[in-house]
Amino acid sequence: RTAATVSLVTGATRGIGREVVRRLAERGHTVLLTGRSADAARRAADELREGVRDGDVLDVRPLWLDVTDDRSVAIAAAQVADEFGRLDVLVNNAGIAYDTWQRAVTADLRVVREAAETNLYGPWRMAIAFAPLLRASAHPRLVNVSSEAASLTNMGGGTPAYSASKVALNALTRMLAAELRADGVLVNAVCPGWVATDMGGPGGRPVAEGAASVLYAATLPDDGPTGGFFRDGRPLPW
Ligand code: NDP
Repeated sequence: RTAATVSLVTGATRGIGREVVRRLAERGHTVLLTGRSADAARRAADELREGVRDGDVLDVRPLWLDVTDDRSVAIAAAQVADEFGRLDVLVNNAGIAYDTWQRAVTADLRVVREAAETNLYGPWRMAIAFAPLLRASAHPRLVNVSSEAASLTNMGGGTPAYSASKVALNALTRMLAAELRADGVLVNAVCPGWVATDMGGPGGRPVAEGAASVLYAATLPDDGPTGGFFRDGRPLPW
């Protein structure tokens, strides 16, 4: 069993999640790069292992994990339990359905449900499955990758399915933070900012900057905040 910090990132085959994996591995973490396609996760992990840290290859390991699938999440949790006996950092990054320019009053409820399945129930399912492993860590951190689109001060500007799912994710963040405080788990929501990924499209800021905003909450000191909502390490309005 490794003494290194063990981190797991969901939806890490591309975009912000993939870059968060790289940055955590560069800090010396053992990082589980998870994806709903096992092949895509293996390919991404192979690529990132070509990076080096102090002359060593990065410790990036692929793991199949579809956050909408109870069985997949249970298998992943069992594998982490077997191999490490704990999880130090969980980054709930997987997200979908940025339904730009839709309107709540004409929304397709199938899209609303799909968004919730990945963006809300996914992180919730992960928290339930991995809470025992986080409790077994000496310095546990749980990060929910949310969005400024969830800020109640921003409602009404399009993306109804996405925004509603992320508002609920922020609510989940508060509940988990309160319930896991006694176990020392620092639970926070972060916005990566508008980032140039497949979801964000061209024009957003570089992926490295979005990943840094996530890293802040994944690498907090023990006396860091819990139950907060941050971008670039600064509080955002709920
Ligand atoms: P991308 O669309 O680039 O990547 C999304 C990732 O999530 C992919 O790896 C995708 O895998 C994965 N994913 C989707 N569904 C599932 C699932 N059921 N199980 C596991 N993985 C899944 O998005 P970004 O990198 O831009 O976004 C990452 C996070 O940041 C999201 O939560 C998003 O809401 C948030 N965010 C992004 C912003 C932006 O401007 N980009 C702004 C604010 C927040 P696959 O390749 O299999 O589809």
